[in-house]
Amino acid sequence: MNSQDSEISSPLLKLTPAGLFCEAGEFFIDPSKAVSRAIITHAHADHARTGSREYITVDCGKHVLRTRLTPTSIINTVQYGEVMDFRGVKVSLHPAGHMLGSSQVRVEYQGEVWVFSGDFKVAADPTCVPFEPLRCHTFITESTFANPDFSWPDQATVWAEISDWWRLNRAWGRASVLYCYAAGKSQRVLAGLDASLGPIITHDKVETINADYRASGISLPDTVCIDGAPENTDWGASLILAPPQVRDGRWMRRAGPRSTAFASGWMTTKGACARHRVDRGFVLSDHADWAETLWAIKETGAEHVLVTHGYVDLLVAHLRSQGLDAQPLKAAEAKAAKSGVR
Ligand SMILES: [Zn+2]
Repeated sequence: MNSQDSEISSPLLKLTPAGLFCEAGEFFIDPSKAVSRAIITHAHADHARTGSREYITVDCGKHVLRTRLTPTSIINTVQYGEVMDFRGVKVSLHPAGHMLGSSQVRVEYQGEVWVFSGDFKVAADPTCVPFEPLRCHTFITESTFANPDFSWPDQATVWAEISDWWRLNRAWGRASVLYCYAAGKSQRVLAGLDASLGPIITHDKVETINADYRASGISLPDTVCIDGAPENTDWGASLILAPPQVRDGRWMRRAGPRSTAFASGWMTTKGACARHRVDRGFVLSDHADWAETLWAIKETGAEHVLVTHGYVDLLVAHLRSQGLDAQPLKAAEAKAAKSGVR
Protein backbone atom coordinates (compact mmCIF):
# COMPACT_ATOMS: atom_id res chain seq x y z
CA MET A 1 0.00 0.00 0.00
CA ASN A 2 1.08 3.55 -0.52
CA SER A 3 1.09 6.03 2.27
CA GLN A 4 1.13 9.73 1.57
CA ASP A 5 3.95 10.18 4.05
CA SER A 6 6.80 7.69 4.22
CA GLU A 7 7.63 8.74 7.79
CA ILE A 8 5.45 7.59 10.67
CA SER A 9 4.37 11.05 11.75
CA SER A 10 1.60 10.24 14.21
CA PRO A 11 1.53 6.66 15.47
CA LEU A 12 -1.93 5.19 15.38
CA LEU A 13 -0.73 2.59 17.86
CA LYS A 14 2.01 3.40 20.31
CA LEU A 15 3.79 1.62 23.08
CA THR A 16 3.03 2.89 26.57
CA PRO A 17 3.91 1.52 30.03
CA ALA A 18 0.58 -0.33 29.95
CA GLY A 19 1.12 -1.75 26.45
CA LEU A 20 0.09 -0.94 22.89
CA PHE A 21 -2.34 2.00 22.93
CA CYS A 22 -4.53 3.72 20.37
CA GLU A 23 -4.98 7.26 21.60
CA ALA A 24 -7.51 8.26 18.94
CA GLY A 25 -9.74 5.28 19.76
CA GLU A 26 -8.93 5.08 23.49
CA PHE A 27 -8.20 1.37 23.66
CA PHE A 28 -5.28 -0.88 24.45
CA ILE A 29 -4.21 -4.10 22.75
CA ASP A 30 -3.04 -6.90 25.07
CA PRO A 31 -2.28 -4.44 27.90
CA SER A 32 0.19 -5.44 30.57
CA LYS A 33 -1.73 -3.45 33.18
CA ALA A 34 -5.38 -2.96 34.05
CA VAL A 35 -7.01 -0.53 31.61
CA SER A 36 -10.49 0.60 30.67
CA ARG A 37 -10.81 -1.19 27.33
CA ALA A 38 -8.55 -4.09 26.33
CA ILE A 39 -8.61 -5.74 22.92
CA ILE A 40 -7.12 -9.19 23.37
CA THR A 41 -5.35 -10.96 20.51
CA HIS A 42 -5.41 -14.36 22.24
CA ALA A 43 -5.64 -16.09 25.59
CA HIS A 44 -1.97 -16.75 26.35
CA ALA A 45 -0.80 -15.38 29.69
CA ASP A 46 1.55 -12.80 28.20
CA HIS A 47 -1.30 -11.29 26.17
CA ALA A 48 -4.40 -11.65 28.38
CA ARG A 49 -4.17 -10.33 31.91
CA THR A 50 -6.81 -9.79 34.56
CA GLY A 51 -7.98 -6.46 35.97
CA SER A 52 -9.22 -4.47 32.98
CA ARG A 53 -12.76 -3.11 32.95
CA GLU A 54 -13.74 -4.46 29.53
CA TYR A 55 -12.25 -7.07 27.21
CA ILE A 56 -12.93 -7.49 23.52
CA THR A 57 -12.05 -10.67 21.70
CA VAL A 58 -13.27 -12.73 18.79
CA ASP A 59 -16.31 -14.88 19.46
CA CYS A 60 -14.61 -18.26 19.01
CA GLY A 61 -12.01 -17.31 21.64
CA LYS A 62 -14.41 -16.39 24.43
CA HIS A 63 -14.30 -19.69 26.36
CA VAL A 64 -10.55 -19.96 26.45
CA LEU A 65 -10.21 -16.27 27.36
CA ARG A 66 -12.74 -16.69 30.18
CA THR A 67 -10.56 -19.43 31.63
CA ARG A 68 -7.55 -17.12 31.50
CA LEU A 69 -9.43 -14.21 33.13
CA THR A 70 -12.05 -14.45 35.89
CA PRO A 71 -15.70 -15.57 35.94
CA THR A 72 -16.80 -11.94 36.35
CA SER A 73 -14.56 -10.32 33.73
CA ILE A 74 -16.59 -8.41 31.15
CA ILE A 75 -15.83 -10.02 27.80
CA ASN A 76 -17.49 -8.63 24.68
CA THR A 77 -17.05 -10.49 21.42
CA VAL A 78 -17.11 -9.81 17.71
CA GLN A 79 -16.86 -12.02 14.65
CA TYR A 80 -13.72 -12.05 12.53
CA GLY A 81 -13.90 -9.08 10.17
CA GLU A 82 -16.69 -7.29 12.08
CA VAL A 83 -15.89 -3.59 12.27
CA MET A 84 -16.09 -1.72 15.57
CA ASP A 85 -15.99 2.06 15.75
CA PHE A 86 -14.21 3.75 18.63
CA ARG A 87 -14.38 7.56 18.27
CA GLY A 88 -14.04 7.26 14.50
CA VAL A 89 -11.32 4.60 14.62
CA LYS A 90 -12.41 1.46 12.79
CA VAL A 91 -11.15 -1.69 14.46
CA SER A 92 -11.55 -5.30 13.36
CA LEU A 93 -10.08 -8.67 14.33
CA HIS A 94 -8.75 -11.11 11.76
CA PRO A 95 -7.41 -14.68 12.04
CA ALA A 96 -3.81 -15.05 13.21
CA GLY A 97 -3.73 -18.88 13.05
CA HIS A 98 -1.82 -19.06 16.36
CA MET A 99 -4.46 -20.80 18.50
CA LEU A 100 -8.23 -20.88 18.83
CA GLY A 101 -9.56 -17.31 18.86
CA SER A 102 -6.21 -15.70 18.01
CA SER A 103 -6.46 -12.43 16.12
CA GLN A 104 -4.55 -9.77 14.32
CA VAL A 105 -5.91 -6.32 15.05
CA ARG A 106 -6.61 -4.02 12.11
CA VAL A 107 -6.93 -0.33 12.99
CA GLU A 108 -8.04 2.28 10.45
CA TYR A 109 -8.23 6.02 11.02
CA GLN A 110 -8.47 8.82 8.49
CA GLY A 111 -7.31 6.56 5.66
CA GLU A 112 -4.32 5.15 7.55
CA VAL A 113 -4.29 1.40 8.24
CA TRP A 114 -2.19 -0.31 10.90
CA VAL A 115 -2.20 -4.01 11.69
CA PHE A 116 -0.82 -5.63 14.83
CA SER A 117 -0.06 -9.29 14.14
CA GLY A 118 -0.25 -10.56 17.72
CA ASP A 119 1.32 -14.04 17.79
CA PHE A 120 0.75 -15.76 14.47
CA LYS A 121 1.56 -18.88 12.52
CA VAL A 122 1.10 -19.74 8.89
CA ALA A 123 1.13 -23.55 9.11
CA ALA A 124 -2.18 -25.40 8.94
CA ASP A 125 -3.90 -26.13 12.25
CA PRO A 126 -7.35 -27.79 12.34
CA THR A 127 -8.09 -26.22 15.74
CA CYS A 128 -8.15 -22.61 14.58
CA VAL A 129 -8.96 -20.38 11.62
CA PRO A 130 -5.95 -19.96 9.26
CA PHE A 131 -3.81 -16.82 9.24
CA GLU A 132 -5.17 -14.16 6.91
CA PRO A 133 -2.72 -11.61 5.45
CA LEU A 134 -4.02 -8.04 5.63
CA ARG A 135 -2.97 -5.09 3.51
CA CYS A 136 -1.85 -2.12 5.59
CA HIS A 137 0.45 0.89 5.71
CA THR A 138 2.14 -0.12 8.96
CA PHE A 139 2.53 -3.68 10.19
CA ILE A 140 3.58 -4.44 13.75
CA THR A 141 4.94 -7.96 13.68
CA GLU A 142 6.08 -10.38 16.32
CA SER A 143 9.46 -12.00 15.67
CA THR A 144 9.65 -14.95 18.09
CA PHE A 145 11.36 -17.20 15.51
CA ALA A 146 12.39 -14.57 12.97
CA ASN A 147 15.88 -16.00 12.52
CA PRO A 148 17.15 -17.98 9.50
CA ASP A 149 18.05 -20.79 11.94
CA PHE A 150 14.35 -21.58 12.25
CA SER A 151 12.71 -23.49 9.41
CA TRP A 152 9.84 -25.75 10.41
CA PRO A 153 9.74 -29.33 9.13
CA ASP A 154 6.72 -30.65 7.31
CA GLN A 155 3.98 -31.31 9.87
CA ALA A 156 3.21 -34.79 8.54
CA THR A 157 6.79 -35.73 9.38
CA VAL A 158 6.39 -34.45 12.93
CA TRP A 159 3.14 -36.37 13.49
CA ALA A 160 4.86 -39.53 12.18
CA GLU A 161 7.80 -38.95 14.55
CA ILE A 162 5.47 -38.58 17.53
CA SER A 163 3.55 -41.71 16.58
CA ASP A 164 6.76 -43.72 16.13
CA TRP A 165 8.02 -42.58 19.53
CA TRP A 166 4.69 -43.50 21.15
CA ARG A 167 4.69 -46.92 19.45
CA LEU A 168 8.23 -47.64 20.60
CA ASN A 169 7.45 -46.65 24.19
CA ARG A 170 4.34 -48.80 24.11
CA ALA A 171 6.42 -51.76 22.96
CA TRP A 172 8.69 -51.19 25.96
CA GLY A 173 5.73 -50.78 28.31
CA ARG A 174 6.53 -47.20 29.29
CA ALA A 175 4.29 -44.14 29.20
CA SER A 176 4.89 -41.45 26.58
CA VAL A 177 4.90 -38.10 28.37
CA LEU A 178 4.69 -35.24 25.89
CA TYR A 179 5.12 -31.74 27.23
CA CYS A 180 3.23 -29.06 25.31
CA TYR A 181 1.91 -25.66 26.27
CA ALA A 182 -1.54 -26.21 27.73
CA ALA A 183 -3.38 -23.63 25.61
CA GLY A 184 -3.23 -24.14 21.87
CA LYS A 185 -0.29 -26.48 21.38
CA SER A 186 -1.82 -29.38 23.31
CA GLN A 187 -5.07 -29.16 21.34
CA ARG A 188 -3.20 -28.93 18.04
CA VAL A 189 -1.24 -32.06 19.00
CA LEU A 190 -4.44 -33.85 19.98
CA ALA A 191 -6.03 -33.00 16.64
CA GLY A 192 -2.96 -34.07 14.69
CA LEU A 193 -1.73 -37.30 16.26
CA ASP A 194 -2.90 -40.85 15.69
CA ALA A 195 -5.30 -41.21 18.61
CA SER A 196 -5.81 -44.93 17.99
CA LEU A 197 -2.47 -45.91 19.53
CA GLY A 198 -3.65 -45.95 23.14
CA PRO A 199 -5.34 -43.95 25.88
CA ILE A 200 -4.62 -40.24 25.99
CA ILE A 201 -4.23 -38.86 29.48
CA THR A 202 -4.03 -35.16 30.26
CA HIS A 203 -2.83 -32.96 33.07
CA ASP A 204 -5.73 -30.90 34.40
CA LYS A 205 -4.27 -27.66 32.97
CA VAL A 206 -4.52 -29.23 29.52
CA GLU A 207 -7.93 -30.76 30.17
CA THR A 208 -9.37 -27.39 31.22
CA ILE A 209 -8.42 -25.89 27.86
CA ASN A 210 -9.63 -29.02 26.05
CA ALA A 211 -13.05 -28.36 27.57
CA ASP A 212 -12.94 -24.77 26.27
CA TYR A 213 -12.07 -25.98 22.78
CA ARG A 214 -14.84 -28.57 22.78
CA ALA A 215 -17.32 -25.95 24.05
CA SER A 216 -16.22 -23.82 21.09
CA GLY A 217 -17.06 -26.60 18.64
CA ILE A 218 -13.53 -27.92 18.04
CA SER A 219 -13.41 -31.68 17.70
CA LEU A 220 -10.71 -33.41 19.75
CA PRO A 221 -10.14 -37.12 20.44
CA ASP A 222 -11.25 -38.53 23.79
CA THR A 223 -9.00 -37.70 26.70
CA VAL A 224 -8.98 -38.60 30.38
CA CYS A 225 -7.71 -36.18 33.04
CA ILE A 226 -4.96 -37.86 35.03
CA ASP A 227 -6.81 -37.27 38.32
CA GLY A 228 -9.78 -39.21 36.95
CA ALA A 229 -7.87 -42.02 35.23
CA PRO A 230 -9.29 -45.39 36.30
CA GLU A 231 -7.23 -47.88 38.29
CA ASN A 232 -6.94 -50.22 35.34
CA THR A 233 -5.40 -47.56 33.04
CA ASP A 234 -2.75 -49.07 30.80
CA TRP A 235 -0.09 -46.49 31.58
CA GLY A 236 2.51 -48.29 29.48
CA ALA A 237 0.39 -47.72 26.37
CA SER A 238 -0.68 -44.19 27.17
CA LEU A 239 0.28 -40.79 25.86
CA ILE A 240 0.28 -38.17 28.60
CA LEU A 241 -0.01 -34.50 27.66
CA ALA A 242 1.16 -31.98 30.24
CA PRO A 243 2.52 -28.43 30.26
CA PRO A 244 6.30 -28.21 30.78
CA GLN A 245 5.84 -26.17 33.97
CA VAL A 246 4.54 -29.23 35.85
CA ARG A 247 7.41 -31.46 34.74
CA ASP A 248 8.61 -32.27 38.24
CA GLY A 249 5.19 -32.62 39.86
CA ARG A 250 4.21 -35.57 42.01
CA TRP A 251 1.29 -36.30 39.66
CA MET A 252 3.77 -37.89 37.30
CA ARG A 253 4.57 -40.80 39.61
CA ARG A 254 1.29 -42.44 38.73
CA ALA A 255 2.54 -43.00 35.19
CA GLY A 256 5.38 -45.30 36.29
CA PRO A 257 8.21 -45.92 33.76
CA ARG A 258 8.13 -43.29 31.06
CA SER A 259 9.86 -41.52 28.23
CA THR A 260 9.59 -37.75 28.03
CA ALA A 261 9.45 -35.36 25.07
CA PHE A 262 8.75 -31.70 24.39
CA ALA A 263 6.89 -30.32 21.36
CA SER A 264 8.09 -26.80 20.62
CA GLY A 265 9.76 -24.68 18.00
CA TRP A 266 12.67 -24.35 20.41
CA MET A 267 13.45 -28.05 20.00
CA THR A 268 15.19 -27.22 16.75
CA THR A 269 18.10 -25.66 18.66
CA LYS A 270 21.24 -27.56 19.60
CA GLY A 271 21.18 -29.12 23.06
CA ALA A 272 17.45 -28.47 23.46
CA CYS A 273 16.66 -31.91 24.92
CA ALA A 274 19.30 -31.53 27.63
CA ARG A 275 18.17 -28.00 28.37
CA HIS A 276 14.55 -29.04 28.73
CA ARG A 277 15.47 -32.34 30.47
CA VAL A 278 13.57 -34.57 28.04
CA ASP A 279 14.46 -37.66 26.03
CA ARG A 280 13.06 -36.41 22.73
CA GLY A 281 12.21 -33.16 21.02
CA PHE A 282 9.59 -32.59 18.35
CA VAL A 283 9.78 -29.40 16.33
CA LEU A 284 6.27 -28.00 16.39
CA SER A 285 5.67 -24.29 16.75
CA ASP A 286 2.62 -22.09 16.89
CA HIS A 287 4.63 -19.19 15.50
CA ALA A 288 5.88 -18.44 11.98
CA ASP A 289 9.45 -19.47 11.14
CA TRP A 290 11.87 -17.16 9.34
CA ALA A 291 10.58 -17.68 5.81
CA GLU A 292 6.95 -17.58 6.94
CA THR A 293 7.52 -14.33 8.84
CA LEU A 294 9.06 -12.71 5.75
CA TRP A 295 6.20 -14.00 3.60
CA ALA A 296 3.59 -12.60 6.00
CA ILE A 297 5.27 -9.20 6.06
CA LYS A 298 5.45 -9.08 2.26
CA GLU A 299 1.77 -9.99 1.95
CA THR A 300 0.77 -6.95 3.99
CA GLY A 301 2.30 -4.61 1.40
CA ALA A 302 3.27 -2.43 4.37
CA GLU A 303 5.94 0.18 3.85
CA HIS A 304 6.52 0.62 7.57
CA VAL A 305 7.24 -2.44 9.69
CA LEU A 306 7.61 -2.27 13.45
CA VAL A 307 9.10 -5.34 15.07
CA THR A 308 8.53 -6.62 18.56
CA HIS A 309 8.81 -9.71 20.72
CA GLY A 310 11.75 -11.89 19.62
CA TYR A 311 14.61 -11.49 17.14
CA VAL A 312 13.86 -7.79 16.74
CA ASP A 313 17.27 -6.46 15.67
CA LEU A 314 17.91 -9.31 13.26
CA LEU A 315 14.59 -8.92 11.49
CA VAL A 316 14.84 -5.13 11.39
CA ALA A 317 18.30 -5.34 9.82
CA HIS A 318 17.10 -7.81 7.21
CA LEU A 319 14.02 -5.79 6.28
CA ARG A 320 16.12 -2.62 5.96
CA SER A 321 18.52 -4.49 3.68
CA GLN A 322 15.47 -5.20 1.51
CA GLY A 323 14.61 -1.50 1.34
CA LEU A 324 11.77 -1.46 3.85
CA ASP A 325 11.34 1.13 6.56
CA ALA A 326 11.68 -1.14 9.57
CA GLN A 327 12.40 -0.39 13.19
CA PRO A 328 11.96 -1.94 16.58
CA LEU A 329 8.59 -1.03 18.04
CA LYS A 330 10.31 0.37 21.13
CA ALA A 331 12.61 2.60 19.08
CA ALA A 332 9.66 3.92 17.09
CA GLU A 333 7.98 4.90 20.30
CA ALA A 334 11.08 6.60 21.65
CA LYS A 335 11.46 8.55 18.40
CA ALA A 336 7.84 9.65 18.47
CA ALA A 337 8.18 10.76 22.08
CA LYS A 338 11.31 12.78 21.27
CA SER A 339 9.60 14.60 18.44
CA GLY A 340 6.70 15.45 20.70
CA VAL A 341 4.24 13.10 19.03
CA ARG A 342 2.44 11.22 21.80
ZN1 LIG B 1 0.73 -16.81 22.10
